[in-house]
Amino acid sequence: MKFNTQLIHGGNSEDPTTGAVSTPIYRASTFHQRKLGGEVKWEYGRTGNPTRASLEKLMAELEQGVAGFAFASGSAAIHAVFSLFSAGDHFVVGNDVYGGTFRLINQVLKRFGFEFTVVDTQNLAAVEAAIQPNTVAIYFETPTNPLLKLTDIKAITKIAQQHDLKTIIDNTFATPYNQQPLTLGADIVVHSATKYLGGHSDVVAGIAVTNKLELAERLAFLQNAIGSVLGPDDSWLLMRGIKTLGARMRVHHENAHAVADFLVHDPRVAKVLYPGLTDFPDHELARNQMRDFGAMISFELKPGLSAKQFVESLKLIDLAESLGGIESLIEFPAVMTHGAIPREVRLANGIKDELIRLSVGIEDEQDLIADLKQGLTQLDGEN
Ligand SMILES: *Cc1c(COP(=O)(O)O)cnc(C)c1O
Repeated sequence: MKFNTQLIHGGNSEDPTTGAVSTPIYRASTFHQRKLGGEVKWEYGRTGNPTRASLEKLMAELEQGVAGFAFASGSAAIHAVFSLFSAGDHFVVGNDVYGGTFRLINQVLKRFGFEFTVVDTQNLAAVEAAIQPNTVAIYFETPTNPLLKLTDIKAITKIAQQHDLKTIIDNTFATPYNQQPLTLGADIVVHSATKYLGGHSDVVAGIAVTNKLELAERLAFLQNAIGSVLGPDDSWLLMRGIKTLGARMRVHHENAHAVADFLVHDPRVAKVLYPGLTDFPDHELARNQMRDFGAMISFELKPGLSAKQFVESLKLIDLAESLGGIESLIEFPAVMTHGAIPREVRLANGIKDELIRLSVGIEDEQDLIADLKQGLTQLDGEN
């Protein structure tokens, strides 16, 4: 089955009990055990729920893993994955990961004795050099947020395998539509399903998928032990969103290509970061590693132009955190999504104060471009 068909017919596309074509919402916290101590499929809602299990099966298939796990948020999924490890373990982490992941690492996991070295995962020599005797895993995102830098997944997983390390990849930006890291040698994929997988800005959820049975068993244990599970209603909503992932991604891409092309040619725009642009430094890698280039675009205005005035003047595109929804959203990483990262660290990593990040939605591309154009035209009066 091809990916776009799998989205619709994968997982438990039909309810085994009734034949309903949409998995029912099993809103039950506990299940009748007919025999004391007998084998039961369902016992308690945290341990397992049929609606959640249907979503987990679907996600395992879409990422080509052996098991999927649904959590109350992407952050909860990432926390559960790190919980596979112990105090004294060391991690090599990409330097451009989601701001909340930095917060989890620096303000939570370090207190539990986890050790981290942050490196630019584009620099393979730096990754090798960061590996220590107690290193257990390499963790990164590709493309990154908000600079959209790509890391060569195969090259990193090769290094990881040579050193007997796990590779963990946050696949939120690409989605399995664009890349399936487990097929390139990664061990675990995590998602903020709040973004493209859900796709409608109406559910907060997280996913972890692994292709290793041993890791799957331990993740199942941790999901139940920690308990940050996704409820049945949100599991259903997420599955509903996932069914249209392929259709949405095709329009996201079409619009992103058009918007990037418009921005590149506007005289008020200084720099556009989009992997689909042929002169983007990681364009070739994106071509090899991804099916399309995603729909996130970051850009900078020419010096002297007010990025604040620009984003506030937009009428259709909302100023808001988050991404990956059907509606276009624009934001300032330095003030909003990446505000938790110290300014000097942000600047050292190339995230300027006035960098603008745009999540291109699936509206009509002409309306999006017209809105950006009117916002940019207003800046002319300033200079
Ligand atoms: C949003 C996001 C997260 C965190 O997910 P939540 O669902 O908000 O907890 C993790 N990684 C990336 C890349 C994200 O964009």
